[in-house]
Amino acid sequence: DAKSSWRGGYHFFSPAINALNKDRLLLGAALREAIAAETLNLVFQPQIEWETGGLYGVEALARWSHPEYGPIAPDRFIPVAEQIGAIEALGAWALRTASAQLAQWRRDGHVIPAMSVNISAQHFRDAGFAQLVADVLAENALKPADLTIEITESLMLEETATVVGNIEALAEMGVTLSMDDFGTGYSSLSLIARLPVKELKVDRAFIDRLESDASAQAVATAVICIGQSLNMSVVAEGVETLGQRRFLEALGCHAQQGYFYSRPMAAADFEDWILNYSGGALRRRA
Ligand code: C2E
Ligand code: MG
Ligand code: MG
Ligand code: MG
Repeated sequence: DAKSSWRGGYHFFSPAINALNKDRLLLGAALREAIAAETLNLVFQPQIEWETGGLYGVEALARWSHPEYGPIAPDRFIPVAEQIGAIEALGAWALRTASAQLAQWRRDGHVIPAMSVNISAQHFRDAGFAQLVADVLAENALKPADLTIEITESLMLEETATVVGNIEALAEMGVTLSMDDFGTGYSSLSLIARLPVKELKVDRAFIDRLESDASAQAVATAVICIGQSLNMSVVAEGVETLGQRRFLEALGCHAQQGYFYSRPMAAADFEDWILNYSGGALRRRA
């Protein structure tokens, strides 16, 4: 029969593909539920300013623990959220939760200059996105400059009216726009010069190889120079070693983020961290 004449392909590929599709469906359904029930979490990673050693900002990163499978990495569940049309709900939740957390920490007397939230390119295709950001800021009595929105380069290529409208509305409002993972994908110099982006994040891949690879050094150096020439802040991500830190300091890289300083932490752990951090002028206000 047809099945046995195609045995190798059938038996090898089909069950795997079915399992994958089933897995995606199950994962998607569970994720949709988790977003609706707000059972996702945010963790927070400090960003350290080069000149002062103080806190430059904090990046909020989503975490999800599946009831059966346990923790699932964002690199896995963010694409699923995009595919099932749930990324807008996830983005709105992340914006609200991170903003409320920043407002709470400020009320508690912690000095935190800004909160960074990752927003999917897809969310910028939603004509109401800039208004959502304005509403969330107002709900939490925050100023636009308190919020940084990290976007990936792929979005920058897509210069449709809605996407550009959202980018310009946010910039006019005074929200900081940051280009995440810069140096990978389709980095376009003309685009970063044209769009109102105030911050560049040097991709972890270049930082990772700083001490071993001359070409990674050259790219990191060039990206930092480009940012500085365009009056942008440059944040290096994935700083893990003292050698990497020193290299970036020598280049005058504005801020650093990575395991060398701290892993992303649950809110309560971040509070302990900030109270104990003595790298700069981090003091409780009261
Ligand atoms: P990203 O925005 O580039 O975030 C940096 C990633 O590097 C995070 O991974 C962080 O935990 C990790 N990282 C930070 N320092 C180090 C280090 O020193 N060494 C190493 N090896 N890794 C470090 P994470 O949390 O797994 O997030 C992965 C990606 O998922 C993020 O990359 C971002 O693109 C996306 N993501 C995370 N949370 C959200 C969210 O709330 N919304 C959206 N749309 N995307 C998110
Ligand atoms: Mg990011
Ligand atoms: Mg990044
Ligand atoms: Mg990334």
